[in-house]
Amino acid sequence: MSGPVGLDRANLAEHLATAGVPERQLRMRTNQLWGWLYRRGAASYDAMSDLPAGLRRALAERLPWQRPTVSEQQVSSDGTIKWLIRMHDGREVEAVYIPEPDRGALCISSQVGCTLSCTFCHTGTMQLVRNLAAGEIVEQLRIARDTLGDWDDGQPRRLTNIVVMGMGEPLFNYDNVRAALRIAMDGEGIGISRRRITLSTSGVVPRIGEVGHDLRTKLAISLHAVTDELRDVLVPVNKKWNIAELLAACRAYPHDGRPITFEYVMLDQINDSDAEARELVRLLQGFPAKVNLIPFNPWPGTNYGCSPWKRIDAFARILEDAGYASPVRRPRGRDILAACGQLKTQSERARRERVANAA
Ligand code: SAH
Ligand code: SF4
Repeated sequence: MSGPVGLDRANLAEHLATAGVPERQLRMRTNQLWGWLYRRGAASYDAMSDLPAGLRRALAERLPWQRPTVSEQQVSSDGTIKWLIRMHDGREVEAVYIPEPDRGALCISSQVGCTLSCTFCHTGTMQLVRNLAAGEIVEQLRIARDTLGDWDDGQPRRLTNIVVMGMGEPLFNYDNVRAALRIAMDGEGIGISRRRITLSTSGVVPRIGEVGHDLRTKLAISLHAVTDELRDVLVPVNKKWNIAELLAACRAYPHDGRPITFEYVMLDQINDSDAEARELVRLLQGFPAKVNLIPFNPWPGTNYGCSPWKRIDAFARILEDAGYASPVRRPRGRDILAACGQLKTQSERARRERVANAA
Protein backbone atom coordinates (compact mmCIF):
# COMPACT_ATOMS: atom_id res chain seq x y z
CA MET A 1 0.00 0.00 0.00
CA SER A 2 1.46 3.34 -0.94
CA GLY A 3 -1.05 5.83 0.35
CA PRO A 4 -4.71 6.75 0.32
CA VAL A 5 -5.20 7.12 -3.45
CA GLY A 6 -7.07 4.18 -4.91
CA LEU A 7 -8.83 3.14 -1.70
CA ASP A 8 -12.60 3.20 -1.64
CA ARG A 9 -14.58 5.11 0.98
CA ALA A 10 -15.02 2.08 3.24
CA ASN A 11 -11.29 1.47 3.24
CA LEU A 12 -10.47 5.11 3.90
CA ALA A 13 -12.94 5.08 6.80
CA GLU A 14 -11.17 2.06 8.28
CA HIS A 15 -7.84 3.82 8.13
CA LEU A 16 -9.33 6.94 9.65
CA ALA A 17 -10.81 4.88 12.46
CA THR A 18 -7.46 3.27 13.27
CA ALA A 19 -5.92 6.74 13.14
CA GLY A 20 -8.25 7.65 16.01
CA VAL A 21 -11.26 9.29 14.39
CA PRO A 22 -14.35 8.58 16.53
CA GLU A 23 -17.24 6.71 14.94
CA ARG A 24 -19.56 9.72 14.82
CA GLN A 25 -17.02 11.74 12.82
CA LEU A 26 -16.03 9.00 10.41
CA ARG A 27 -18.40 9.94 7.64
CA MET A 28 -17.47 13.61 7.73
CA ARG A 29 -13.73 12.92 7.83
CA THR A 30 -13.98 10.38 5.01
CA ASN A 31 -15.78 12.95 2.88
CA GLN A 32 -13.17 15.58 3.68
CA LEU A 33 -10.34 13.25 2.76
CA TRP A 34 -12.14 12.19 -0.42
CA GLY A 35 -12.66 15.81 -1.43
CA TRP A 36 -9.00 16.63 -0.87
CA LEU A 37 -7.84 13.65 -2.88
CA TYR A 38 -10.21 13.83 -5.81
CA ARG A 39 -11.79 17.28 -5.99
CA ARG A 40 -9.03 19.55 -4.79
CA GLY A 41 -6.03 17.45 -5.75
CA ALA A 42 -4.05 17.61 -2.50
CA ALA A 43 -0.47 16.41 -2.90
CA SER A 44 0.10 15.50 0.74
CA TYR A 45 -1.74 15.08 4.04
CA ASP A 46 -0.20 18.36 5.14
CA ALA A 47 -2.12 20.21 2.47
CA MET A 48 -5.44 19.06 3.97
CA SER A 49 -5.85 22.15 6.09
CA ASP A 50 -9.22 21.35 7.66
CA LEU A 51 -8.06 18.00 9.07
CA PRO A 52 -6.67 18.32 12.61
CA ALA A 53 -2.86 18.30 12.63
CA GLY A 54 -2.82 15.24 14.90
CA LEU A 55 -4.94 13.30 12.43
CA ARG A 56 -2.71 14.30 9.54
CA ARG A 57 0.30 13.03 11.47
CA ALA A 58 -1.44 9.78 12.37
CA LEU A 59 -2.39 9.21 8.74
CA ALA A 60 1.15 9.86 7.55
CA GLU A 61 2.37 7.25 10.01
CA ARG A 62 -0.23 4.60 9.37
CA LEU A 63 -0.81 5.09 5.69
CA PRO A 64 2.42 6.53 4.32
CA TRP A 65 1.83 8.19 1.03
CA GLN A 66 4.40 7.88 -1.71
CA ARG A 67 3.16 9.55 -4.84
CA PRO A 68 4.44 8.46 -8.22
CA THR A 69 6.63 11.11 -9.83
CA VAL A 70 6.80 12.50 -13.33
CA SER A 71 10.14 11.50 -14.80
CA GLU A 72 9.50 13.13 -18.14
CA GLN A 73 6.87 15.32 -19.72
CA GLN A 74 6.69 16.01 -23.44
CA VAL A 75 4.40 18.38 -25.28
CA SER A 76 3.67 17.69 -28.94
CA SER A 77 3.33 20.38 -31.58
CA ASP A 78 -0.40 19.54 -31.65
CA GLY A 79 -0.87 20.12 -27.91
CA THR A 80 -0.81 16.45 -26.92
CA ILE A 81 1.01 15.93 -23.62
CA LYS A 82 2.76 12.70 -22.67
CA TRP A 83 3.90 11.91 -19.17
CA LEU A 84 6.32 9.23 -18.21
CA ILE A 85 5.30 8.33 -14.69
CA ARG A 86 7.59 6.57 -12.26
CA MET A 87 6.05 4.39 -9.59
CA HIS A 88 7.55 3.87 -6.14
CA ASP A 89 9.39 0.73 -7.31
CA GLY A 90 10.93 2.54 -10.27
CA ARG A 91 8.61 1.04 -12.88
CA GLU A 92 7.33 3.49 -15.43
CA VAL A 93 4.18 3.88 -17.49
CA GLU A 94 2.88 6.52 -19.83
CA ALA A 95 -0.27 8.60 -19.90
CA VAL A 96 -1.27 10.87 -22.77
CA TYR A 97 -3.56 13.92 -22.77
CA ILE A 98 -5.27 14.63 -26.07
CA PRO A 99 -6.95 18.04 -26.27
CA GLU A 100 -9.84 18.70 -28.65
CA PRO A 101 -11.66 22.02 -29.04
CA ASP A 102 -14.58 20.99 -26.83
CA ARG A 103 -13.11 18.27 -24.65
CA GLY A 104 -9.92 16.59 -23.53
CA ALA A 105 -9.25 12.90 -23.11
CA LEU A 106 -6.63 11.27 -20.98
CA CYS A 107 -5.35 7.95 -22.26
CA ILE A 108 -4.29 5.91 -19.24
CA SER A 109 -2.25 2.75 -18.80
CA SER A 110 -3.43 -0.29 -16.89
CA GLN A 111 -0.27 -2.41 -16.77
CA VAL A 112 3.49 -2.02 -17.05
CA GLY A 113 3.91 -3.78 -20.39
CA CYS A 114 1.36 -6.29 -21.61
CA THR A 115 0.98 -10.07 -21.46
CA LEU A 116 -0.34 -10.11 -24.99
CA SER A 117 1.79 -9.67 -28.03
CA CYS A 118 -0.24 -8.15 -30.79
CA THR A 119 2.24 -8.05 -33.64
CA PHE A 120 1.63 -4.42 -34.69
CA CYS A 121 1.78 -2.96 -31.17
CA HIS A 122 4.91 -1.53 -29.62
CA THR A 123 3.74 -2.27 -26.08
CA GLY A 124 3.21 -5.85 -27.21
CA THR A 125 6.93 -6.27 -27.88
CA MET A 126 7.56 -5.70 -24.19
CA GLN A 127 6.74 -8.39 -21.67
CA LEU A 128 4.35 -7.82 -18.82
CA VAL A 129 6.27 -6.45 -15.91
CA ARG A 130 3.38 -6.05 -13.52
CA ASN A 131 -0.18 -4.90 -13.01
CA LEU A 132 -0.78 -1.36 -11.84
CA ALA A 133 -2.49 -0.90 -8.49
CA ALA A 134 -5.79 0.99 -8.48
CA GLY A 135 -4.04 4.00 -6.92
CA GLU A 136 -1.39 4.00 -9.65
CA ILE A 137 -4.13 4.17 -12.26
CA VAL A 138 -5.93 6.99 -10.44
CA GLU A 139 -2.66 8.89 -9.96
CA GLN A 140 -2.36 9.21 -13.74
CA LEU A 141 -5.55 11.28 -13.64
CA ARG A 142 -4.34 13.32 -10.67
CA ILE A 143 -1.02 14.04 -12.35
CA ALA A 144 -2.77 15.18 -15.54
CA ARG A 145 -5.08 17.46 -13.54
CA ASP A 146 -2.07 18.87 -11.66
CA THR A 147 -0.28 19.76 -14.89
CA LEU A 148 -3.39 21.13 -16.54
CA GLY A 149 -4.33 23.20 -13.47
CA ASP A 150 -7.61 21.39 -13.68
CA TRP A 151 -8.78 20.99 -10.08
CA ASP A 152 -11.98 22.42 -8.67
CA ASP A 153 -11.64 26.13 -9.38
CA GLY A 154 -14.95 27.04 -10.99
CA GLN A 155 -13.44 26.85 -14.48
CA PRO A 156 -14.61 24.34 -17.09
CA ARG A 157 -12.64 21.11 -16.85
CA ARG A 158 -9.97 20.43 -19.45
CA LEU A 159 -9.80 16.72 -18.72
CA THR A 160 -13.33 15.57 -19.53
CA ASN A 161 -12.91 12.05 -20.86
CA ILE A 162 -10.92 8.95 -20.06
CA VAL A 163 -9.81 6.29 -22.49
CA VAL A 164 -8.23 3.15 -21.10
CA MET A 165 -6.06 2.63 -24.15
CA GLY A 166 -2.55 3.12 -22.89
CA MET A 167 -0.13 0.37 -22.02
CA GLY A 168 -1.58 -2.98 -21.06
CA GLU A 169 -4.75 -5.02 -21.36
CA PRO A 170 -7.21 -3.55 -18.83
CA LEU A 171 -9.27 -6.71 -18.57
CA PHE A 172 -6.24 -8.69 -17.44
CA ASN A 173 -6.01 -6.30 -14.48
CA TYR A 174 -9.71 -5.96 -14.06
CA ASP A 175 -10.09 -5.63 -10.28
CA ASN A 176 -7.72 -2.67 -10.13
CA VAL A 177 -9.10 -1.05 -13.27
CA ARG A 178 -12.62 -1.38 -11.88
CA ALA A 179 -11.63 0.15 -8.53
CA ALA A 180 -9.86 3.02 -10.29
CA LEU A 181 -12.75 3.76 -12.65
CA ARG A 182 -15.25 3.70 -9.80
CA ILE A 183 -13.21 6.40 -8.12
CA ALA A 184 -12.97 8.37 -11.38
CA MET A 185 -16.76 8.24 -11.81
CA ASP A 186 -17.59 9.35 -8.27
CA GLY A 187 -19.59 12.58 -8.46
CA GLU A 188 -18.04 13.97 -5.26
CA GLY A 189 -14.57 13.67 -6.70
CA ILE A 190 -13.05 13.37 -10.15
CA GLY A 191 -16.58 13.13 -11.48
CA ILE A 192 -16.17 11.79 -15.00
CA SER A 193 -19.32 9.90 -15.90
CA ARG A 194 -19.29 6.43 -17.38
CA ARG A 195 -20.52 7.90 -20.65
CA ARG A 196 -17.21 9.73 -20.94
CA ILE A 197 -15.07 6.72 -20.19
CA THR A 198 -14.05 4.22 -22.86
CA LEU A 199 -12.42 0.94 -22.02
CA SER A 200 -10.54 -0.70 -24.85
CA THR A 201 -9.94 -4.43 -24.87
CA SER A 202 -8.26 -6.82 -27.22
CA GLY A 203 -11.13 -9.22 -26.49
CA VAL A 204 -10.99 -10.82 -23.05
CA VAL A 205 -14.45 -12.25 -23.59
CA PRO A 206 -15.33 -13.57 -20.10
CA ARG A 207 -14.68 -10.15 -18.56
CA ILE A 208 -16.78 -8.15 -21.01
CA GLY A 209 -20.00 -9.21 -19.29
CA GLU A 210 -18.54 -8.13 -15.95
CA VAL A 211 -17.71 -4.68 -17.30
CA GLY A 212 -21.33 -4.42 -18.45
CA HIS A 213 -22.52 -5.38 -15.00
CA ASP A 214 -20.08 -3.39 -12.87
CA LEU A 215 -19.20 -0.25 -14.83
CA ARG A 216 -21.20 0.11 -18.04
CA THR A 217 -18.61 2.39 -19.55
CA LYS A 218 -18.32 2.71 -23.28
CA LEU A 219 -16.57 -0.21 -24.85
CA ALA A 220 -14.00 -0.27 -27.62
CA ILE A 221 -13.01 -3.59 -29.12
CA SER A 222 -9.69 -4.04 -30.87
CA LEU A 223 -10.95 -6.14 -33.76
CA HIS A 224 -8.40 -5.45 -36.52
CA ALA A 225 -9.28 -8.49 -38.66
CA VAL A 226 -12.39 -10.14 -40.02
CA THR A 227 -11.16 -13.74 -40.15
CA ASP A 228 -9.92 -15.84 -37.25
CA GLU A 229 -6.97 -16.87 -39.38
CA LEU A 230 -5.63 -13.32 -39.61
CA ARG A 231 -6.79 -12.23 -36.15
CA ASP A 232 -4.92 -15.19 -34.62
CA VAL A 233 -1.75 -13.55 -35.96
CA LEU A 234 -2.49 -9.87 -35.30
CA VAL A 235 -4.25 -10.24 -31.95
CA PRO A 236 -3.10 -13.62 -30.61
CA VAL A 237 -5.64 -13.63 -27.76
CA ASN A 238 -8.05 -14.55 -30.57
CA LYS A 239 -6.81 -18.13 -30.31
CA LYS A 240 -8.45 -18.26 -26.92
CA TRP A 241 -11.62 -16.31 -27.70
CA ASN A 242 -12.44 -16.10 -31.37
CA ILE A 243 -14.32 -13.47 -33.36
CA ALA A 244 -17.71 -15.19 -33.03
CA GLU A 245 -17.39 -15.38 -29.24
CA LEU A 246 -16.18 -11.81 -29.07
CA LEU A 247 -19.08 -10.47 -31.10
CA ALA A 248 -21.56 -12.49 -29.04
CA ALA A 249 -20.21 -10.81 -25.88
CA CYS A 250 -20.57 -7.41 -27.57
CA ARG A 251 -24.15 -8.12 -28.55
CA ALA A 252 -24.95 -8.92 -24.93
CA TYR A 253 -23.28 -5.74 -23.61
CA PRO A 254 -25.72 -3.18 -22.10
CA HIS A 255 -24.80 -0.40 -24.48
CA ASP A 256 -27.88 1.77 -23.80
CA GLY A 257 -28.43 2.30 -27.49
CA ARG A 258 -25.00 3.84 -27.93
CA PRO A 259 -22.80 2.12 -30.45
CA ILE A 260 -19.92 -0.11 -29.47
CA THR A 261 -16.70 1.04 -31.08
CA PHE A 262 -14.63 -1.41 -33.07
CA GLU A 263 -11.04 -0.41 -33.54
CA TYR A 264 -9.46 -1.42 -36.79
CA VAL A 265 -5.83 -0.63 -37.43
CA MET A 266 -5.14 -0.04 -41.12
CA LEU A 267 -2.20 -2.22 -42.11
CA ASP A 268 -1.00 -1.93 -45.68
CA GLN A 269 -2.00 -5.02 -47.68
CA ILE A 270 -2.69 -7.01 -44.55
CA ASN A 271 -6.27 -6.25 -43.56
CA ASP A 272 -7.32 -3.30 -45.73
CA SER A 273 -9.05 -4.69 -48.85
CA ASP A 274 -12.57 -3.86 -50.04
CA ALA A 275 -13.54 -7.50 -49.51
CA GLU A 276 -12.51 -7.22 -45.85
CA ALA A 277 -14.53 -4.02 -45.43
CA ARG A 278 -17.58 -5.83 -46.79
CA GLU A 279 -17.00 -8.77 -44.49
CA LEU A 280 -16.76 -6.36 -41.57
CA VAL A 281 -20.16 -4.94 -42.48
CA ARG A 282 -21.56 -8.46 -42.51
CA LEU A 283 -20.06 -9.29 -39.11
CA LEU A 284 -21.43 -6.17 -37.45
CA GLN A 285 -24.95 -6.55 -38.78
CA GLY A 286 -27.69 -6.37 -36.21
CA PHE A 287 -26.28 -4.19 -33.44
CA PRO A 288 -25.22 -0.59 -33.04
CA ALA A 289 -21.59 -0.29 -33.95
CA LYS A 290 -19.11 2.29 -35.04
CA VAL A 291 -15.75 1.53 -36.58
CA ASN A 292 -12.73 3.55 -35.63
CA LEU A 293 -10.16 3.24 -38.37
CA ILE A 294 -6.71 3.78 -36.89
CA PRO A 295 -3.91 4.57 -39.30
CA PHE A 296 -1.10 2.27 -38.24
CA ASN A 297 1.47 4.20 -36.22
CA PRO A 298 4.90 2.92 -37.07
CA TRP A 299 7.55 2.38 -34.42
CA PRO A 300 11.23 1.57 -34.71
CA GLY A 301 11.69 -2.01 -35.86
CA THR A 302 8.19 -2.83 -37.11
CA ASN A 303 7.66 -4.61 -40.42
CA TYR A 304 4.15 -3.27 -40.91
CA GLY A 305 3.26 -0.20 -42.90
CA CYS A 306 0.23 2.06 -42.79
CA SER A 307 -2.34 1.73 -45.57
CA PRO A 308 -2.26 4.61 -48.06
CA TRP A 309 -4.87 7.33 -47.41
CA LYS A 310 -6.77 6.44 -50.59
CA ARG A 311 -7.14 2.87 -49.36
CA ILE A 312 -8.33 4.01 -45.92
CA ASP A 313 -10.89 6.27 -47.62
CA ALA A 314 -12.18 3.48 -49.82
CA PHE A 315 -12.44 1.14 -46.81
CA ALA A 316 -14.29 3.82 -44.83
CA ARG A 317 -16.69 4.48 -47.70
CA ILE A 318 -17.83 0.85 -47.80
CA LEU A 319 -18.60 0.97 -44.09
CA GLU A 320 -20.34 4.31 -44.34
CA ASP A 321 -22.46 3.21 -47.30
CA ALA A 322 -23.65 0.36 -45.13
CA GLY A 323 -24.65 2.84 -42.41
CA TYR A 324 -21.70 2.52 -40.02
CA ALA A 325 -19.98 5.66 -38.84
CA SER A 326 -16.32 5.03 -39.49
CA PRO A 327 -14.18 7.98 -38.49
CA VAL A 328 -10.51 7.77 -39.27
CA ARG A 329 -8.59 8.47 -36.10
CA ARG A 330 -6.30 11.42 -36.60
CA PRO A 331 -2.90 10.46 -35.24
CA ARG A 332 -2.03 12.72 -32.33
CA GLY A 333 1.32 13.32 -30.74
CA ARG A 334 3.22 11.27 -33.30
CA ASP A 335 6.24 13.54 -32.94
CA ILE A 336 6.62 12.51 -29.29
CA LEU A 337 5.78 8.83 -29.94
CA ALA A 338 2.54 9.23 -28.04
CA ALA A 339 0.15 7.86 -30.65
CA CYS A 340 -1.82 4.64 -30.26
CA GLY A 341 0.34 1.59 -29.90
CA GLN A 342 3.58 3.52 -29.57
CA LEU A 343 3.84 3.45 -25.81
CA LYS A 344 6.66 1.30 -24.66
CA THR A 345 9.26 3.12 -22.62
CA GLN A 346 10.50 0.75 -19.98
CA SER A 347 12.24 -1.84 -22.10
CA GLU A 348 13.40 0.84 -24.54
CA ARG A 349 15.08 2.75 -21.78
CA ALA A 350 16.53 -0.41 -20.35
CA ARG A 351 17.97 -1.21 -23.75
CA ARG A 352 19.35 2.30 -24.13
CA GLU A 353 20.98 1.99 -20.73
CA ARG A 354 22.47 -1.39 -21.58
CA VAL A 355 23.89 0.02 -24.79
CA ALA A 356 25.23 3.04 -22.92
CA ASN A 357 26.78 0.86 -20.23
CA ALA A 358 28.39 -1.43 -22.78
CA ALA A 359 29.94 1.50 -24.61
N1 SAH B 1 -4.81 -3.55 -24.72
C1 SAH B 1 -5.95 -2.81 -25.10
C2 SAH B 1 -5.81 -1.30 -24.92
C3 SAH B 1 -4.49 -0.69 -25.28
S1 SAH B 1 -4.10 -0.67 -27.00
C4 SAH B 1 -6.35 -3.13 -26.52
O1 SAH B 1 -5.59 -3.82 -27.20
O2 SAH B 1 -7.44 -2.74 -26.91
C5 SAH B 1 -5.10 0.66 -27.63
C6 SAH B 1 -5.40 0.57 -29.13
O3 SAH B 1 -4.24 0.88 -29.91
C7 SAH B 1 -5.83 -0.80 -29.57
O4 SAH B 1 -6.91 -0.76 -30.44
C8 SAH B 1 -4.59 -1.29 -30.28
O5 SAH B 1 -4.89 -2.34 -31.14
C9 SAH B 1 -4.14 -0.05 -30.97
N2 SAH B 1 -2.76 -0.11 -31.46
C10 SAH B 1 -1.75 -0.81 -30.95
N3 SAH B 1 -0.61 -0.60 -31.66
C11 SAH B 1 -0.94 0.27 -32.64
C12 SAH B 1 -0.18 0.91 -33.67
N4 SAH B 1 1.12 0.69 -33.81
N5 SAH B 1 -0.82 1.76 -34.50
C13 SAH B 1 -2.14 2.02 -34.32
N6 SAH B 1 -2.89 1.47 -33.35
C14 SAH B 1 -2.31 0.60 -32.52
FE1 SF4 C 1 -1.45 -5.43 -25.35
FE2 SF4 C 1 -3.39 -3.93 -26.50
FE3 SF4 C 1 -0.84 -3.83 -27.39
FE4 SF4 C 1 -2.30 -6.00 -27.82
S1 SF4 C 1 -2.70 -3.94 -28.64
S2 SF4 C 1 -0.16 -5.98 -27.12
S3 SF4 C 1 -3.50 -6.12 -25.96
S4 SF4 C 1 -1.57 -3.19 -25.37
